[in-house]
Amino acid sequence: MDSDYSGDEEYVEENDEDLSDEDQVVAMKVEDNKFMTHGELEIEMKKTIAEVQAVLQIKKGICRILLHKFKWNKEALFDKFYDCLDMTEFLKGCQIIRKSEDEESHKGECDICVDLTDLVGLSCGHLACSKCWKAYITEKIVDGRQSEIECLASKCDLLIEDEKIKTILSDSLVLDAYDYHKVNGFVMTNPFIKWCPGKNCGRAVKVFSTDSQLIECECGARFCFCCYENWHEPVTCELQKQWVIRCKSDSETANWIMAHTKECPKCHTTIEKNGGCNHMSCQTRSCMHEFCWLCMKPWRGHTACNSYVDKNEQQRTNSRQSLERYLFYYNRYRTHEQSLQLEMKLKKKVAIKMDQIANATKAYVEGKCLEQAVEVLSQCRQTMMYSYVFAFYLQKDNNSQIFEDNQKDLEAATENLSELLEKDIDEDDYSKLFKLVQDKSRYVDARRKVLLEHCIEGYDKNFWKFTTAAFR
Ligand SMILES: [Zn+2]
Ligand SMILES: [Zn+2]
Ligand SMILES: [Zn+2]
Ligand SMILES: [Zn+2]
Ligand SMILES: [Zn+2]
Ligand SMILES: [Zn+2]
Ligand SMILES: [Zn+2]
Repeated sequence: MDSDYSGDEEYVEENDEDLSDEDQVVAMKVEDNKFMTHGELEIEMKKTIAEVQAVLQIKKGICRILLHKFKWNKEALFDKFYDCLDMTEFLKGCQIIRKSEDEESHKGECDICVDLTDLVGLSCGHLACSKCWKAYITEKIVDGRQSEIECLASKCDLLIEDEKIKTILSDSLVLDAYDYHKVNGFVMTNPFIKWCPGKNCGRAVKVFSTDSQLIECECGARFCFCCYENWHEPVTCELQKQWVIRCKSDSETANWIMAHTKECPKCHTTIEKNGGCNHMSCQTRSCMHEFCWLCMKPWRGHTACNSYVDKNEQQRTNSRQSLERYLFYYNRYRTHEQSLQLEMKLKKKVAIKMDQIANATKAYVEGKCLEQAVEVLSQCRQTMMYSYVFAFYLQKDNNSQIFEDNQKDLEAATENLSELLEKDIDEDDYSKLFKLVQDKSRYVDARRKVLLEHCIEGYDKNFWKFTTAAFR
């Protein structure tokens, strides 16, 4: 056996049992989450409405409005419904007015189109002709994509029940659109259900805990349930959000320009500082002015400029330092992201290799380890990416030192595995190749878990100290 890898192997053996226990926990969690199509969501929504109707004995349309208000939490709705002292007030708070008898139609002048005709209205008493109601509701559904539609009287917030909408609308396309928006409203207000952000996916995921967690949809999308970003462990959603804002912000570029360029004091051309030397020469041929970068005075006759540091210069230096710090982490974050994208190609290469091996040796099962290694590699790349976001916001202390050591180990192991899969995969001795790949990917996976578990421990014991203000 290659002695280089013996250390790695020992490490894996020690932790083998712990790792398999953990895998089981993760596997169970994933099974709990349920992916649902639009049709399945509609069934679930209607089931919940029927359950509430069976208890409250009121119209389904009103049940849906109430459930919408209570974010589809039946128990919370029942509690409030039975605890409330004034039912009329309670319903009014939910934009509902209940009337036992149906509203009669009156003949009169429609406030909107001023036709003299039959007027219909809601329990709030606001009337209009059916033509105006139809136009109003159709617009709310088609253009406004609404599932909760208020009375057309401008100062009335009464919500129109589904039953009423069905009597007013006749166009089946508009009614279909309404049904569609109702399901969307169900998903958008229910904290346990979210649409998958995958392109053209259309599924939603239902979870049993609203905690930040990795969601892996059948369509291939991998995202954080809480913030919809790529799965960003070990970074919290909050820090990840700040990081994304920071990366997108144009002001970073502005800061860069501020810190690295100045105007020539003579001809006002923008000059970029490339090296450490502060003796600058304007590159404009007609100018060629020589000056000192620090004090901007002409270089000729310049002997010292340490007497006074301009306040602006001080700010510029701070902003440059903070920018350089940011760029240090950003570059590493981006490099791992790019590697992750490049290594997607490995999937193809490995699939071809697996076919070759299977044809030559019938070693189908053993060949699987190559595929698994690519998967481990991409998980490590992702962890490496976000480890730099984590480190960017992390204050230095003993724990951050441990984190950086773990990060260093994972980074080295990841590069090792990457190199193995890119270069050594053409090894003809298959059993030797399998052994190498298995050892390395087990080791790197273990390193990843060590880093992540340390991060989780820190969150549990509250020992991470993050700074967000100082580096802005
Ligand atoms: Zn009208
Ligand atoms: Zn009204
Ligand atoms: Zn999906
Ligand atoms: Zn998140
Ligand atoms: Zn110049
Ligand atoms: Zn010089
Ligand atoms: Zn100077």
